[in-house]
Amino acid sequence: MKPVPFLDLKSPYIELRDELDAAYRRVMESGWYILGEEATAFEKEFAEHCGAKFCVGVGNGLEALHLILRAYGIGEGDEVIVPTNTYIATWLAVSYAGAKPVPVEPIEREYNIDPNRIEAAITPRTKAILPVHLYGLAADVDPILSLAERFNLKVVEDAAQAQGAQYKGRSAGNLCHAAGFSFYPGKNLGALGDAGAAMTNDEALADKARTLRNYGSKVKYYNEAKGYNSRLDEMQAAFLRVKLKRLDEWNARRARIASFYLEALSDVEDLTLPALPNWSSPVWHIFPVRHPRRDELQAHLKANGVDTLIHYPVPPHLSGAYADMGYSRGAFPIAEAIADSELSLPMGPHLGEGDAERVVEVIQSFRPKTRSKS
Ligand SMILES: *Cc1c(COP(=O)(O)O)cnc(C)c1O
Repeated sequence: MKPVPFLDLKSPYIELRDELDAAYRRVMESGWYILGEEATAFEKEFAEHCGAKFCVGVGNGLEALHLILRAYGIGEGDEVIVPTNTYIATWLAVSYAGAKPVPVEPIEREYNIDPNRIEAAITPRTKAILPVHLYGLAADVDPILSLAERFNLKVVEDAAQAQGAQYKGRSAGNLCHAAGFSFYPGKNLGALGDAGAAMTNDEALADKARTLRNYGSKVKYYNEAKGYNSRLDEMQAAFLRVKLKRLDEWNARRARIASFYLEALSDVEDLTLPALPNWSSPVWHIFPVRHPRRDELQAHLKANGVDTLIHYPVPPHLSGAYADMGYSRGAFPIAEAIADSELSLPMGPHLGEGDAERVVEVIQSFRPKTRSKS
C-alpha cells in the first residue's frame, strides 16, 4: 500500500501550477526582485484577510517576532513571558532582541500558555507577553490582554501556526498589539521558500518594523537605526498572493479531516485528543494526540506506512540552546509530559482520499506490548 506522508508539499504546487507559474513569470519579467509591487500587494491583501491595518513582510517568522520586539524597544535587561510548550523560535526571538525569555506552563489539554499562571511570572523587568497559537488553536488571549493592561505590557502573538484561525470571531494576528507570522512552506499559508510578516494596527510600530527590516533605512542609504536585512522577496510575495486566495478553502479541508479524526478516534483507549475550547475555531496546522506509549505507537504507525512527527521532542528549556539558563528535568513538568507523549498525525489539505481512514485503522489496531502505568 502507498505510504501516508505526514505532509505533502508537492500537491499544493500541482493544484495551483498555472497560477504559480504565471506569478513566477510576472516577477521574472518585472526586473524587480526585492520589496516591490508584489510585496506591497501581498501586505495589503494579508492585512485585509486578518482585518488588521498594517502588514510588514519580512524574511521569516523568527525575524517577524524579533523585529516587533526590537521595534518596541525591548532588549538587554528586559523580560518577555513565553510558553514552555512551543517551537524554540518563540524563545529565540526574545534572545535575539537581547531580552530574557521567562517560561510559563500551558493548559495541558489546550497546549497553549495558561493565562492563570502568567501573573506569578511578571516582574518589574517584564515588558511583553508572547502567547503562541500552537498547532493552529488560538491561545486564550482575552485574560492575557487584561493582565497586560494592568501591568502595562505589550502582547505579541506568535501566529506562525495559525493563519486563518479565529478566536471569538476575531482573526489570529489581529487579537493583540502585534503578531508575527511565518510562511515557511509547511505552514497553513506557506511560501515556496522562507518568508514571514509582522501584523499590527499600530502605525508607529509598523513604521519602525518596516525600517528595521531594511537596514534601518526609510530612504536608501540614509540609516536611522541599526537595522537588519530581513525583507520579503518579490517571488515569495507573488506565490503567497496566489496561495492566500486558497487559505480558507484549504483550512476547511483540514477541519474536515480533524472532525473525522476526532470522531473516529474518540474511543481509542489511552489516546488523548485535542480539546476544542468553545471560543476557538482552529486551523489544524498540526493534529496533536497524546499517548502514554507514544514511541511504540509511532513505530506501529511507521511499520504500517503512516508517517508522523513529534511537536516537539525537546522543550526549549531542556534544549542545548538554553543550557545556559540552567533548567533541568522537572523544571516545567507539563511541557515535559507533552514532549514525552505528543504525536502529530498526518494532516493537510492534500491528505489523500482514504488516507485519514488508514491512519485511524492503524491506530485502532495498536496493541501496546506493555500496559501503561497511568
Ligand atoms: C515556524 C514557527 C516559527 C518561525 O518561523 P520561521 O519562518 O521558520 O522563522 C515561530 N514560531 C512558531 C510557533 C513556529 O511554528
